[in-house]
Amino acid sequence: MNKKPASLLILFGATGDLANRKLYPSLYRLYKKGKIAEQFAVVGVARRELTDEQYQNNIKKSILSEINHVNECDLNPFVSHFKYHSHDVSDAASYAELKQLAEQMDETYDLGGNRLFYLAMAPEFFGTITQFLKSEGLTDTTGYKRVVIEKPFGRDYKSAEKLNAMIRTAFEEEEIYRIDHYLGKEMVQNIEVIRFSNAIFEPLWNNRYISNIQITSSETLGVEERGRYYDKSGALRDMVQNHMLQMVALLAMEPPISLTTEEIRSEKVRVLRALRKYSETEIPENFVRGQYDWDEKNLLAPYREEPMVQPDSNTETYVAGKIMIDNFRWAGVPFYIRTGKRMATKSTKIVVQFKDIPMNLYYQPKETLNPNLLVIHIQPDEGVTLHLNVKKSGQKEETKPIHLHFSNRNINGMNTPEAYERLIYDSMRGDATNFTHWEEVALSWKYVDRISQVWENTREQDFPNYFSGTMGPKKADELLEHDNHIWWPIEQFEIE
Ligand code: NAD
Repeated sequence: MNKKPASLLILFGATGDLANRKLYPSLYRLYKKGKIAEQFAVVGVARRELTDEQYQNNIKKSILSEINHVNECDLNPFVSHFKYHSHDVSDAASYAELKQLAEQMDETYDLGGNRLFYLAMAPEFFGTITQFLKSEGLTDTTGYKRVVIEKPFGRDYKSAEKLNAMIRTAFEEEEIYRIDHYLGKEMVQNIEVIRFSNAIFEPLWNNRYISNIQITSSETLGVEERGRYYDKSGALRDMVQNHMLQMVALLAMEPPISLTTEEIRSEKVRVLRALRKYSETEIPENFVRGQYDWDEKNLLAPYREEPMVQPDSNTETYVAGKIMIDNFRWAGVPFYIRTGKRMATKSTKIVVQFKDIPMNLYYQPKETLNPNLLVIHIQPDEGVTLHLNVKKSGQKEETKPIHLHFSNRNINGMNTPEAYERLIYDSMRGDATNFTHWEEVALSWKYVDRISQVWENTREQDFPNYFSGTMGPKKADELLEHDNHIWWPIEQFEIE
């Protein structure tokens, strides 16, 4: 694999929010770290009329607002690699000019014909763009051609399949890089390392020693200005189909025989195939939906009063669920997931709860009688905590709980790469491990579709059913109480 990949990045949606907040700063970090050499160039594509100079100034602005301690003049050599092409993606004629510009950049920067098409645009354009790229000859190139696609990849299995078929007319499966930015996160990638490089975990990683696994991804914000999109999507499609099920797959997969993209993906696919398919009547027993209401001080408006949201919306802003994996390793172990907006804390954490020891020899005050937990902190803090019990000083038969922490922040000079930085670099190098394969997308949609069909056919009479600033509706607690479990208070599990 080429260490410094030469490539032309053709960025559709060059004036958008994603490009400004994430993509330009990530490209700059890669450039500064020397990961992309002088042999890289970007053609930004969007509808607005802009000169190259205006475009380059916008890029500078976005970098200055996202990264501290950058001197504006130092950005000049970097932004000189960027050119702008004003272009309506539905108009075939614009593609001929884009092709010419691509060829010119290819020659100037000696890029070997390598092209990475990044679609940072609304999903309804994905099919149109890829088809024009082929029909107008942009995919006829001497180097590689790859397409990077942002979420959402469809809104159910049927639409995802249709979209995939359109993209496949222009790109092979191995040329399609479907972004799930959770897979670019340091600690999500660390799940595999923690599991497969520690002799103390792998032997315990099964239904004999693990009681349950809890995955929480909570946000404090509401839908903000995304009401139009979100009201047609909801938390199940926006978070569970992709990020939550990907984390389940990484936690539950068998050790791959090697770390190649194919081997890791095939183990993840086996997990997704083993997810228990609930019947229509089992779905309400195993999945809970929520919609946020006012906060307790009546300062933050409820979901139904957000801009572009239907006043009687049946869309869920919260999901909790009990996922069962019917295979030898996991039979009987619930994977509880929950995700939502306007919750008490902004955090993504995984709690692995081990089974209790067979007999307790020690007297422990009730509040300290804790099972062993392994907590994986995904964001905003990154690290691992192990909850153990040790002897209480001076007391012969009393124990106390302690927490062993590892925090990425505590490592000197450690600067965790941003997820997008890693994913852009991987797509340039041709490493698709941390992108989702069509088979994973298809299986996840099929799993989620069964739930969304039931939810769409039955209005939730209780909506809104949780106060903003809380950890979700009461029913989500009851889901675990029913199994004699509790949600661990992850809002108190910060790394000290
Ligand atoms: P945005 O609305 O801010 O930007 C859209 C871009 O598309 C703009 O540059 C606009 O000029 C361009 N555009 C729109 N219609 C066009 C046309 N007909 N021809 C040419 N250009 C056109 O959107 P965004 O927030 O940047 O999101 C882009 C994609 O990334 C979406 O698929 C979104 O779901 C996904 N995404 C965004 C974020 C985020 O943080 N913004 C996070 C995850 C995924």
